[in-house]
Amino acid sequence: MHATARRTLDAYDALGQDLGVYPPITSGYRCPAHNDATPGADPTSWHQVLGALDLGGDPQLLAQIIRRAPRHGYVSVRLNERKGYVHLAVLPERQGGN
Ligand SMILES: [Zn+2]
Repeated sequence: MHATARRTLDAYDALGQDLGVYPPITSGYRCPAHNDATPGADPTSWHQVLGALDLGGDPQLLAQIIRRAPRHGYVSVRLNERKGYVHLAVLPERQGGN
C-alpha cells in the first residue's frame, strides 16, 4: 500500500479507537475521473491518493472528531457544516481541500 494511504488509514484506526466508534467514511479514495465528477471537489484533492477521508456523523460526533483528529496524524481538519461531514487529511492542503 502507498505510504500516504497507510498513514491515512492508520490515523483513522487510531481515531476510531480513541472515539470508541469508527465514524462512517462518506468519501475515501477518488480516482481522478471520480474527483472531477464530484461537485465542489478540489482538482488537487488528496482524496486522489487516499491522503484524505471525509467522516460523517451527528454534530456531537463531528465535534469529537475535530477535537481529537490532530492527535492521530491529521494535519488538516475541515468541517463542512452544511453537508455534515469533516474532511481530514494527513498532508497539508494545497488549495481548498474537500
Ligand atoms: Zn474530503
